[in-house]
Amino acid sequence: MNPIFADIPTTIFETMSRLARETGAINLGQGFPDDPGAEDVRRKAADALMEGWNQYPPMMGWPELRQAVARHYAHHQGVSLDWESEVMITSGATEAIAGALMALIKPGDEVVLFQPLYDAYLPLVLRAGGVPRFVTLEPPHWRFTEAMLAKAFSDKTKLVLFNNPLNPAGIVYGKEDLDLLARFCVKHDAYAICDEVWEHVVFDGVQHLSMLNIEGMRERTVKIGSAGKIFSLTGWKVGFSCAAPALMRVLSKAHQFLTFTTPPNLQTAVAYGLAKDEGFFTALRAGLERSRDRFSTGLEALGFSVLPSAGTYFVNIDIAPLGEIDDAAFCQRLVREQGVAAIPVSAFYAENPVKTVVRFCFAKRDDVLDGALERLAGLKR
Ligand code: GLN
Repeated sequence: MNPIFADIPTTIFETMSRLARETGAINLGQGFPDDPGAEDVRRKAADALMEGWNQYPPMMGWPELRQAVARHYAHHQGVSLDWESEVMITSGATEAIAGALMALIKPGDEVVLFQPLYDAYLPLVLRAGGVPRFVTLEPPHWRFTEAMLAKAFSDKTKLVLFNNPLNPAGIVYGKEDLDLLARFCVKHDAYAICDEVWEHVVFDGVQHLSMLNIEGMRERTVKIGSAGKIFSLTGWKVGFSCAAPALMRVLSKAHQFLTFTTPPNLQTAVAYGLAKDEGFFTALRAGLERSRDRFSTGLEALGFSVLPSAGTYFVNIDIAPLGEIDDAAFCQRLVREQGVAAIPVSAFYAENPVKTVVRFCFAKRDDVLDGALERLAGLKR
């Protein structure tokens, strides 16, 4: 068996969700909202399932959805995309990432990864034959510097895999950071696979900036988005891959032999949803921002040291002030003794993990968040 997969444990998200089910804990671990999602979007999917086409849709995705993606990004991010040659629909962002890595990496190529990193990244890079070069980010600011990038990039760098906004850190990188990273990509003639699935989940009036808009990056960026995150329907697994035609030609070859197509009714519903007016997306952000504030304020009132969250569904606490040095052990105690499931951020590091940060998902109803805070109040310290 291939050791890359044989030797890794079940993902921390699945593990903590199972523990939460077994112990009856409130699950603030795995990142999914408990909101059922917009009713009209779900209705559209149901109607399309009953009345629409249920055989293979086109390999690149329904034209109506690819057009909707192009229009959506033009409107919300000022990105101009030709839907026919630059937009492809995938079965979730993870498929888009896997396909892009398979399509672009040749064995021995170096891949720059930022840790904390989403747990799928490293095995997928390794399986594609990539050699990881890590940039290690640290709380509370999670910033990267020119010196850090200079250490990670080399003349063997093929690409960088970059998640912005960054899960689990809850940080949103802005123009200066993107410009800096872009300078290295241009200098080393590297691609950037940009996992921008949290693009709509940004707070405090911050505007998401796509790497596609950064000077020198239009032809070397693969921008990846996710309807699951945009519409709070994480189980749908409808993703978008956007890239210049020369790149897209190769990305589509990987996609055609991975999943080939994505459920047609979900594509129809997402096309409908992406065309919603500004108000829908503003309300989505406002609702999550309110939940973030409610939960963060609650944590602070309990004396926890809360790290700022500018985007994503997540807020982190620093457990070092509690005298804790092992986030995984802390999370085990939280779920078993306090009845609250969270994610130890060390799970997002491949080497030299930061072990004093714990992630909570706040995309939950008020009573769920309040219930979790009540349970956390009982933590012995
Ligand atoms: N993206 C989700 C998170 O960060 C997890 C998705 C999954 O379980 N694979 O919590």
